[in-house]
Amino acid sequence: MARYTGAVCRMCRREGQKLFLKGTKCYSEHCPFVSRGFAPGQHGQNRKKVSEYGMQLRAKQTAKRYYGVLESQFYHYFELAERKPGQTGENLLRLLESRLDNVVYRLGLASSRAEARQLVLHNHFKLNGNKVNIPSLLVKEGDVITLSDKSRQSEKFKAIEETCGSRPVPMWLEMNRENYTGKVVRMPNRDDIDLEVEEHLIVELYSK
Ligand code: SF4
Repeated sequence: MARYTGAVCRMCRREGQKLFLKGTKCYSEHCPFVSRGFAPGQHGQNRKKVSEYGMQLRAKQTAKRYYGVLESQFYHYFELAERKPGQTGENLLRLLESRLDNVVYRLGLASSRAEARQLVLHNHFKLNGNKVNIPSLLVKEGDVITLSDKSRQSEKFKAIEETCGSRPVPMWLEMNRENYTGKVVRMPNRDDIDLEVEEHLIVELYSK
């Protein structure tokens, strides 16, 4: 599976906002975006006028990087979003938000989406009682995500619980920390998604 292997924190600096790609470091004082919140590179601190295309491109890159998906997959979500009723931009964010790896992260069962992806791939979770190892799987209302019995005893999940257990869970999800079970109460609205992006710019970019 193709994946980005470059410097991760550069992406936050390029997009001008925290994308929360490095787990606990993102919530600490060591986050490079806090001390160097300007764009990377020699001319990163120079203010320059951004073209319309530049703004559209940055919006697309921000969403893509936030959810950790590559270009072809992202475009596939856009095509799916276009076919659904309602606003394409919102549909796109809703689809990305309902990926299983994102849901695991939102439930506080992983410190980042990248870690959530790894954990799903390694069979640590069950979906509605069945084993699942597809991070891109889209959850639906009523789905139940459970940490497998064996994984509950592992040191890794004890550490994750310590660092991520207190992170707020969004309203569209419900988490029972006693039995490591999360539920999709309803599908997310735009207001539930805390990504700062003007999604209509992504639609404009792809509609050219
Ligand atoms: Fe972004 Fe996290 Fe790196 Fe901060 S620590 S720059 S939020 S990836």
